Amino acid sequence: MGEHVNKEELILSSVRVRFAPSPTGPFHIGGARSALFNWLFARRYGGTFIVRIEDTDMERSTRESEENILAALRWLGMDWDEGVEVGGPHGPYRQTERLDIYREYVEQLLQKGCAYRCYCTEEELAAARDALLKKGEMPRYLGRCRSLSPEERVRLEAAGRKPVIRFRVPENRVINVNDLVRGDVSFECNGIGDFIILKSDGIPTYNFAVVVDDHLMSVSHVIRAEEHLPNTPRQILLYDALGWSPPEFAHVSLILGKDRSKMSKRHGATAVEQYQAKGYLPEALDNFLALLGWSPGGEEEILTMEALKQQFSLERVAKSPAVFDLDKLNWLNGHYIRQAPLGEITDLAIPYLEKAGYISTPLSEQKYAWVKMVVDAVREYLTCLSEITDHVAFFFADVVEAEEKEAKEVLAGEQVPAVLAALREKVAGGGEWTQADAKSVLKGAGKETGAKGKQVFMPVRVALTGSTHGPDLSQVMVILGKDKICSRLDRALKMIAGK
Ligand code: GLU
Repeated sequence: MGEHVNKEELILSSVRVRFAPSPTGPFHIGGARSALFNWLFARRYGGTFIVRIEDTDMERSTRESEENILAALRWLGMDWDEGVEVGGPHGPYRQTERLDIYREYVEQLLQKGCAYRCYCTEEELAAARDALLKKGEMPRYLGRCRSLSPEERVRLEAAGRKPVIRFRVPENRVINVNDLVRGDVSFECNGIGDFIILKSDGIPTYNFAVVVDDHLMSVSHVIRAEEHLPNTPRQILLYDALGWSPPEFAHVSLILGKDRSKMSKRHGATAVEQYQAKGYLPEALDNFLALLGWSPGGEEEILTMEALKQQFSLERVAKSPAVFDLDKLNWLNGHYIRQAPLGEITDLAIPYLEKAGYISTPLSEQKYAWVKMVVDAVREYLTCLSEITDHVAFFFADVVEAEEKEAKEVLAGEQVPAVLAALREKVAGGGEWTQADAKSVLKGAGKETGAKGKQVFMPVRVALTGSTHGPDLSQVMVILGKDKICSRLDRALKMIAGK
């Protein structure tokens, strides 16, 4: 089956894939992965990527959720060639706007005898289900309304019963699915039971609408989560009954938490927007999601969207479940934070700094340039941008206090007053300065007092930042500026002198 994805000439013009979310809640990371695999597959083979909204669950679907999903797709860098908002020749792309289309095909199935009206009530169905369960059998519809006579139908309708339409599942058939990820999978029709394709309110069920849409939209490959594998035989039966040939199927494995149970809220954030809010970069999330079930040929773990687009293939999608490893996501995000253009990272960091009360926007040009230096100094410590507020307090504070035991001990050193005083002397006098200037005054203070290396850097660091660790000291000194340095040194000297 691998040949379907290998023969590029064959595939170039014909790959049409879709992402078909149900807009019923937060956009799950698993949904984003399905979308990404489809998008990458389309881009890799010069195909078409479609976004279709499956909103037939009218109670749970909302426009707000749809908009969130679309915004998240865009944020992740995915564009679509056909679908909601962008349109296309196979629209409409929202299922609730296609109800007439579904009814037409339901009618066809009714006429062919492949579907029938079922008048069973909820209570009757529940009783039948219980009876099966009691016998230890799998609950399924046993075909009570399969062969109602026209008179019986009239009687039931006169009694006010509104029918659903069920698909007549052929008996004793085996459906083989040749899945591009899972390989050959077989299903016995007898276990399926006649399933509903149109509800009594005229709304199609998922299994029916998905088949009609995938066919009419000429979808060539259905790439979706493994949880839909059991739906596939139903869908194949519908393709058959409608006289259509089914697309290729590729069911991508579940995403598991580190404890190897299905990824859920108790494993941490599951919604894309939560990661966005924490300050994960779309590049990092894309890279991470791509590796959840797919792997490139080599050892490379850092893959930009451009690289992914060139390398993605269904052949390298693993059959085994993918484990969601937050440490890996953090590592990737840290990488992308460090290598992104500083201006971009600054712009993304500003909202977090503002929310924490460090700055208020709009920033003057000068203040923006200063904030940029702060971001430059601390970005190497960040796994996500929201963490920036944990690293910058001393840049913004009026005064700093050595609170950690270790920091206090540093200031108690014998040579400290002399070192700080010598430095104070050398820094005095206004004006801009560079890291090289800062380095040279530190050196000068050392020379003058006979203190070396750490004996200089540590007390200066503690006096200026309140802590024994942090960004490069000369960088800190440039960002703080001479005035702040002098006042902090003065304060430290006073404190040491017990004043
Ligand atoms: N609306 C379905 C879902 O969100 C789509 C399944 C499919 O891709 O066929 O799970």
